[in-house]
Amino acid sequence: MGRRPRDAEGNRGAPLTMGGKAAGDGGHKPATRLVEVGRRPEWTGAAVNPPVWRASTQLYADSADLARGRPNTDGQFYYGRRGGPTQWALAEALTALEPGAAGTVLYPSGVAAIAGALMAVLRPGDVLLVTDNAYEPTRATATGLLRRMGVEARFFDPLDHDAYRAAFCDRTRAVMLESPGSLTMEVADVPALARIAREHGAVSVLDNTWASPLGFAGLAHGCDIVVMSLTKHVGGHSDLMMGSASAGDAWHARLRHTAQSLGQVVSPDDAALALRGLRTMGVRLAQSSGTALTIATWLSGRPEVARVMCPMLPGDAGHALWQRDFTGGCGLFSFVLEGNDPAARARFIDALRLFGIGYSWGGFESLVIPFDPTPIRTARAWPAGHRLGVRLSCGLEDAGDLIADLSQAFDAMARPEA
Ligand SMILES: *Cc1c(COP(=O)(O)O)cnc(C)c1O
Repeated sequence: MGRRPRDAEGNRGAPLTMGGKAAGDGGHKPATRLVEVGRRPEWTGAAVNPPVWRASTQLYADSADLARGRPNTDGQFYYGRRGGPTQWALAEALTALEPGAAGTVLYPSGVAAIAGALMAVLRPGDVLLVTDNAYEPTRATATGLLRRMGVEARFFDPLDHDAYRAAFCDRTRAVMLESPGSLTMEVADVPALARIAREHGAVSVLDNTWASPLGFAGLAHGCDIVVMSLTKHVGGHSDLMMGSASAGDAWHARLRHTAQSLGQVVSPDDAALALRGLRTMGVRLAQSSGTALTIATWLSGRPEVARVMCPMLPGDAGHALWQRDFTGGCGLFSFVLEGNDPAARARFIDALRLFGIGYSWGGFESLVIPFDPTPIRTARAWPAGHRLGVRLSCGLEDAGDLIADLSQAFDAMARPEA
C-alpha cells in the first residue's frame, strides 16, 4: 500500500482515505465508498482522481529486473496489455464496490465482458442456460459464437422455477442471468436461481448492468460472476464503451487468463472517464430512478398505455422481489402502448423532444426506443396484444419537463394527419 507523496517540505500531510483497499471499507456507506475507492496515492500522486497513465512500454530497471519478471496481477508494471495505474484503479474501485469480489477484469464493451465471462467458464459439449429476457446480443453470442465453440444454449423462463430446475442436465455448466430482464423488466428471484444452479454444479453469471452494485449485490446474492456494461451507469455520459466482470478468487483468475488470451485491454483514457463517471453514479442513479418512478406512475394513469413495466413501481409484478433484494434502481423502464398500430407509436416517438432516439441508456440525457419482444422470446411467448413496446431511459432533466414532453407526444400520436 503506498503512501501519500511528500510535499516540498517533506511532509506527507494527512493520510488519504485508502479507498484502494479491497477489504476494510471502514463501515462506510455506498455514497462514501464511491468517493474513496480506487484512489491509491501511488497511482494518483497529488491528483484527486487517478490521472491518465498512457503507456504500452513500461521500463525495467536493468537486465536482472527484466529477468525477474513480474507476477501477473494488477499493480505490477509489465507491459501495457496488462494495464497500468488508470485501469488498475478502475478495476480496484469496482472490486471494492462489489461485496465478495476478489478482483475485476475490464473489457472494451459490455458485450465483450459477457462473451469473455462465458468463454472463461464454458467448454465444448457444455450446456448453457440463458434467461429468456436476456439482452439480445447476449442471446446472439450464446447461439452464435458459443454454438460454434460446441456449447449448446437453452433458454428458460426466469419466472418458472420448475421448468428452470427441469432444464438442468449433467452437461449444464453455467446459467446466464439478468434481472430485471432487458426490455421487459421482469425481476427474477436471483438468489433462488443461483442456488439451484449451484445445487447442480453450475456456475451463475449475472448481467447486473441495470442495478449496478449500488442496487444489487450479485455475488452476495449467490452468483459466481457479475458482469456490467460500464457504458451505461458507470460511464454515465454516453461517451465511452466498456465492460467489467467481477468475481471471487477462483473465477477472477480464470476471467483474467481468458481475457489476456483474447488480448482484451481498455485504454487509460476511457478508464479515467469511467472513474470520473463512477464518482457521481450514486447521485445520478438516485435522481434518475426518482424521475423514472414519477414518470412510470404518471404513465400508469394514461389511457394510451396498456401496461407499465417498472420494478420500482408499486403494483408491478416484480416489485415485491425488487423490494426484497435491491437497494436501488435506475432510470430505465418500459411500457406498452394500447392498440396494434406501429405508425401511432412512431408518431409518439418522433414527437418527443427531450427523449433522443438511440440505443444505450444510463446517460445524463433521456432516451427512447421502440421494441417488440415477440421475436426474441423462445421459452415463453410474449402476449400477442403487447407488441407496441417503448423503452425510456430517464436522464437528469426535470421530471415535470419530461412529463410535459411525453404528454404533448401523446397528443401528436392522436393526430395521424399531423
Ligand atoms: C448495453 C447492455 C449490454 C452491453 O453493453 P455494451 O457496453 O453496449 O457492449 C449488456 N447488458 C445489458 C443489460 C445492456 O443493456
